[in-house]
Order: sequence, then structure tokens, then C-alpha cells
Amino acid sequence: MFATRFAPSPTGLLHRGHAFSALTAYAAAREAQGRFVLRIEDIDATRCRPEFEAAILQDLAWLGLSWETPVRRQSEHLDDYQAALSRLESDGLLYRCFRTRREVSEAMASAPHGAMEVFRGRPLEADEEARRLAAGEPFAWRLSLDAAARALGGFGNLSFVEDGEGTIPARPELGGDVVLARKDVGVAYHLAVVVDDALQGITCVIRGRDLFEATHVQRLLQALLGLPAPAYRHHRLLTGPDGRRYAKRDRSETLASLRQRGMSAAELREEPGFG
Ligand code: GLU
Repeated sequence: MFATRFAPSPTGLLHRGHAFSALTAYAAAREAQGRFVLRIEDIDATRCRPEFEAAILQDLAWLGLSWETPVRRQSEHLDDYQAALSRLESDGLLYRCFRTRREVSEAMASAPHGAMEVFRGRPLEADEEARRLAAGEPFAWRLSLDAAARALGGFGNLSFVEDGEGTIPARPELGGDVVLARKDVGVAYHLAVVVDDALQGITCVIRGRDLFEATHVQRLLQALLGLPAPAYRHHRLLTGPDGRRYAKRDRSETLASLRQRGMSAAELREEPGFG
């Protein structure tokens, strides 16, 4: 059965761009007489807040959407991500990275063949690693693209289906050696998403074009974990009257404030750009 999802992170209030994304996924589910799943991506305990989650539910109800319950909250399923991480680790696909954010940027800027666009690293020597572990230094787990390529015999057979565009070769090298478990929260976005999309039976991931590169990485993780590959539909990004896309960091007007000033969801859907 067709199943799609809307997966916001409760790190702020939703804006028009989120409404467009949620409505796009919801319409596709309705059209296919399939499932619409809401998932709360709240692994980042430092940035996520319960009041933002409450506001998200209110916003989506105001938009006229309904979703399956119970809603999956990632913070309640850390064991699932840990199990996937352990599997990748025992398959020799991960390495510990002790670098700080700054050290990662410095390593990228001073790469021998010119600045790296994405981070590629390698495990520390065993004695150095043992020393840092013994000292209790925090580390992240990174996926080794080299090890992944060896495990799959290269990435040549890796692809995903993009609705309306057909089969697209996956290029996980676009993401580099991504972090799969952050130092602070023990899991990271790409891993949680592929585990959940599989567990929730998502057959079509509908999300904004800004996550297109993420799909290349996620397709690789699905292959390494033996998970089914959903189809993808990366929709255009809604832009405001100034031609810029809506974004939390730009303080775009929130759905909560549209609601407060008496706008109806029907009026919102009729705005230019929504159609
Ligand atoms: N939680 C992500 C976000 O709010 C979306 C993840 C996804 O759709 O895969 O940007």
C-alpha cells in the first residue's frame, strides 16, 4: 500500500514551506488511497522542544490534515537506531571520529589535493584510538565511504527512483563520510530516517528539493542495512514574494501567526505558489 510521510523537527514553528510540503504529501496519500504518516524527528534534545511539537500538531490540524496514531517520536526509539549502528559497525563500515567541528573544517580546507567539499577521513591508529578512548574523549561514528564501496563492489548498481524522472544513479560520495552517530546524541539524521522509513513501511518519500542530496546518502544506507528502497518525490521549494525560499532561520512568518491573524487554511492554499 502507498505510504508517505511528513517528518518535521520540532526545533521551531512551522512556516509556509512546511505547510506546502505537508499538503503535498497528504494530497499524494489521498490520491493513492494510501497512508499518511506524521513523524516527529526530535533526536536533537538540545534544540527540540515539546511546545514546538504541540504547535506542529495544531498547525497540521488547522491545515485539515489527519494522520495515523500513535505518532512516532524518534527520541523514544533510540534503541532501533543503536541496533542499526551496531550492525554497520560490526560489518566494519564505521569509524570513530574524535575531531571537533573546527578540526573537521580545518582538515577539509587543508586536504592535499585542494579543499575537500565533503569530509573524508579514516580510522585512527589503534593505539592512538585506545589512548583517546581511555581518556574518555567523546567521538562520533562516521560511515566510511571506502569500506561501503568495498562492501557493495562500488556504487555502480546503486540507484533510486525519482517520481517523474525515472531511475537516478545514487552518488553517496556527495555526502562524504557522513556522521551516523553524533557525539552528543548518539544517533544522527540520516540513520534515523532510513530506519524509520523502513519500519513505518514508507513506499514514497515526499519532501523538498533541499533534501535531494540526502537521498543519495540514504540510499546507500538502505543498501548496507538491507532495507527496502522507497521511491522519492522531491518537490519544488515554495518561495515568498521576494523570490526567496521560506526558512526557519530567516524568521519566515509562522503558520501559528497566520492563524492568529485570522487567516484560514483555505486562504493559505489559494496564495500564489501553492497551487
Ligand atoms: N526532519 C527533517 C526536517 O525537518 C526532514 C527529514 C526528511 O523529510 O527526510 O528538515
